[in-house]
Amino acid sequence: MREPELKLQQPVGDEVKQTTCYMCACRCGINVHLSQGRIRYIEGNPAHPVNRGVLCAKGSAGIMQHYSPARLDKPLLRVGERGEGKFREIEWDEALALAAKWLGDTRERDPNRLAFFTGRDQSQALTGWWAQQYGTINYAAHGGFCSVNMAAGGLYTLGGSFWEFGEPDWEHAKYLMLWGVAEDHDSNPIKLGLGQLKGRGAKVVAVNPVRSGYGAIADEWIGIRPGTDGLFAFALIHELLAADKVDLDYLVRFTNAHWLVRQNPGGADDGLFARDADGRALCWDRAGAVGLAEGTGVSPVIVGEFVLPDGGRAVPVFQLLAQRYLDPQYAPDAVADRCGVPADTIRRIARELAAAAFDQPVVIDQPWTDTHGRVHEKMVGRPVAFHAMRGISAHSNGFHTCRALHLLQLLLGAVDTPGSFRYQPPFPRPIPPANRPGKTRLANGALDAPPLGFIHGPEDLLVDAAGEPRRLDHAYSWRYPLAVHGMLHTVIRNAWAGDPQTVDVLFLFMANMSWNSAMNTGETMRWLTDKGEDGEYRIPKIIYSDAYSSEMVAYADLVLPDTTYLERFDAISLLDRPISDADRAADAIRHPVLDAAVQGRTHAAGAGRAGAAAVQREGRDVRGFQSVLLDLGARIGLPALLKEDGTPRYADYADYIVNHERAPGVGLLAGWRGDGTQHGKGSPNPQQLDRYRENGGFWHMDVPAAGRYFKMANRDYLQWSQGMGFIARAEPVVLELYSETLQKFRLAAQGHGPVQPPAAERERVARYFDPLPIWYEPFEGAQVETHRYPLSAVTQRPPFMYHAWGSQNAWLRQITARNFLYLHPDTAARHGLADDDWVHVDSHQGRITVQCRLAGNVQPDTVWTWNAIGKRRGAWKLHKDAPESRKGFLLNHLISDILPREGYANADPVTGQAAWFDLRVAITRAEAGEDSLPQFAAVDAGTPPTTPLRYGASFRKS
Ligand code: SF4
Repeated sequence: MREPELKLQQPVGDEVKQTTCYMCACRCGINVHLSQGRIRYIEGNPAHPVNRGVLCAKGSAGIMQHYSPARLDKPLLRVGERGEGKFREIEWDEALALAAKWLGDTRERDPNRLAFFTGRDQSQALTGWWAQQYGTINYAAHGGFCSVNMAAGGLYTLGGSFWEFGEPDWEHAKYLMLWGVAEDHDSNPIKLGLGQLKGRGAKVVAVNPVRSGYGAIADEWIGIRPGTDGLFAFALIHELLAADKVDLDYLVRFTNAHWLVRQNPGGADDGLFARDADGRALCWDRAGAVGLAEGTGVSPVIVGEFVLPDGGRAVPVFQLLAQRYLDPQYAPDAVADRCGVPADTIRRIARELAAAAFDQPVVIDQPWTDTHGRVHEKMVGRPVAFHAMRGISAHSNGFHTCRALHLLQLLLGAVDTPGSFRYQPPFPRPIPPANRPGKTRLANGALDAPPLGFIHGPEDLLVDAAGEPRRLDHAYSWRYPLAVHGMLHTVIRNAWAGDPQTVDVLFLFMANMSWNSAMNTGETMRWLTDKGEDGEYRIPKIIYSDAYSSEMVAYADLVLPDTTYLERFDAISLLDRPISDADRAADAIRHPVLDAAVQGRTHAAGAGRAGAAAVQREGRDVRGFQSVLLDLGARIGLPALLKEDGTPRYADYADYIVNHERAPGVGLLAGWRGDGTQHGKGSPNPQQLDRYRENGGFWHMDVPAAGRYFKMANRDYLQWSQGMGFIARAEPVVLELYSETLQKFRLAAQGHGPVQPPAAERERVARYFDPLPIWYEPFEGAQVETHRYPLSAVTQRPPFMYHAWGSQNAWLRQITARNFLYLHPDTAARHGLADDDWVHVDSHQGRITVQCRLAGNVQPDTVWTWNAIGKRRGAWKLHKDAPESRKGFLLNHLISDILPREGYANADPVTGQAAWFDLRVAITRAEAGEDSLPQFAAVDAGTPPTTPLRYGASFRKS
């Protein structure tokens, strides 16, 4: 039979538009092929710096995301009971008037009675600013339940972090360790990088209880027990210290290894750095006297104990560090059983790290100048790189584990050197970053700073006179002091309980808080629908915006339908989550790629209201959330959203992107500012968006060649960074092995300083605010009887789907439309289980019943499943008998939002990061069934949804 003739170059459409993908958070450049105004094909943009033409399955399935039947079409007003999913369609005028009334009345009463929380959106530079203008402290995005441990651990140690803040040196690394990396974070850039590494023969080691995704192509998989990565890192540090394989020169040049720490147990200055009268840190010079730690001409000593000029005693940081990690409790033999990693393997990995770092340095023939003005002829680096993600972060010991990894990197001299982890502009930033969270209101009602910021000491906390939390989510309280991304996972319970205060309006944007973004899912649904004795909902008003009919829609009183990512403007901004790589700063836009004739602005300025980019096509009447937010802000009279004459300052989000200045000359986009030739800083340029479109939707600028490495102390880089508006001053960033910030909290807990924790919090703060990284048993494992719950349970992100977004996508559903509980064959044999058997999975919180599959890619004491496949019946406009709801399931039903034996959130005690992966379970064989359990009433079936179909009134155990 003759093969058909294929015309491979045949155009698939009549037009190609270039924008930015939003099928996951990598933000690749895409070329969208259109035919007669409809999308025909999406391909990667070869010129784009993020993906260089590569497109993943998710990205190409963006067509089906755009044409999804699950799209919301029209504003909705609840008519039934909350949770039933009964709505009537209303016009935007009515929807916006109602939302403005609720928000305006609430602001008048008390701005903090608005809780404004967003999910995995990419417009926090706007939403945080809007919350500041509104005046509520109760704002955050999804970071608290994603990877704030990673971000805070990095920012409080390195002034940068993994993923969006840094990356491995793909060009030169010879040894890469991936720690708990989920496939979707990051996606195409890591695939490109791994391809580069593998092509050069570099070794890739994956540390993860489950071998999937990138771990599958790693040269070695270390199937570690969940929550023990910190112990493993300490054992590696122990071995390196014992073998004298640390880069002392690097430590003294770039870290606080030689800074003197006062030793005055019980004193108010114990554990603080010794400083001179001007506050400059001191070291001990070999000449036998104190010197300036950051001075030139000193030769610092890093071990020993010294008497300071004021008579106090002090030791260098390195001395404390070596004492702690050389302790036999961190020897490989001591940790091997707990980690599930043989001691010999730990010793071998330590040797391999040392060999890669010290036997094969990378030398780049590029002179550079440090911040003292000293010229170095070459750039010499340690080709060991780490990348880490949620797997190590989503534990109650995650903050210290992330710091432990950074300590390990620093001891190897492997931060921002050739071959190692590298900062991406605008990082590094000062440690901690300068901006503190807003606490008080100005005369115009706005907060004095954005609600999210960085805590420098106890005085920055948001607590009342009794030391109790001020924020609804309890972030920045003594319970979770460094909760720099907020704590979305505590908001629904606390809003229901009125802790610390009741709210009037809960305003959520693409945060699926009644399903896969919630712990304790069944109770969360009850809190959302619970009424007080007066018959009114305990959470009085819920406004929800999303593009799709997620499980959360049924719980809203007012639904504001968002556009798809191909229908609106977005700024992928350096003020938010950057898309830079280590060698260039970059940002990008999204813009409407569909027929402009059916999209446009409504509410002309003459109508006295801000415009909102609207989409009216195929019976849909939707608006971009960001434009709606600006519109609402103008309607309720937020000062920064109005001009002097009282008319809206911004017509819509596109107008805001171009014209808003965060500081003089600094806006959301860095490219083509001023007269179109300025980059980084410059006045607003009305043609800016056109320049981006002409350039394929993105902008980038190279880091100067002499500034590519050692960015924390590289004069060329820091001056360039300052010139671009990324940092205020071109000053070196001293990397913090030892955190004085943490020690300040410990001292407060010991009764020192003007701001101290309440008595009930003192012991906890003192224990977990150790200035050097510690390891402790994850809380759930420490508080339940582990013989009753002997297994750990974790989720993995499917490489083919992102969060919950993919499993309503017709193409991606064909890859999988259900999940199984995966367990090791040995574990299955112990329980008499085979493929497709049904199992009860019990935690201290509840029970689910699901089907299992055997998989050798998992540590034997751990079970796992894909995240976010399981759907509630009727949600996402899937058929009520769709496999996602009948066979698919969520582990979330098993995860408590509070600890088993304490009233604290199931979270890290330093940052408040949700401890999803601390979950402990038991499995037992179950009778074969038809559906996974629990099942809930279909969300649009008109039945109160908090009644599970098969478990009676509640599936929570008494
Ligand atoms: S990696 Fe993410 S952003 Fe890139 S193409 Fe895939 S889904 Fe889109």
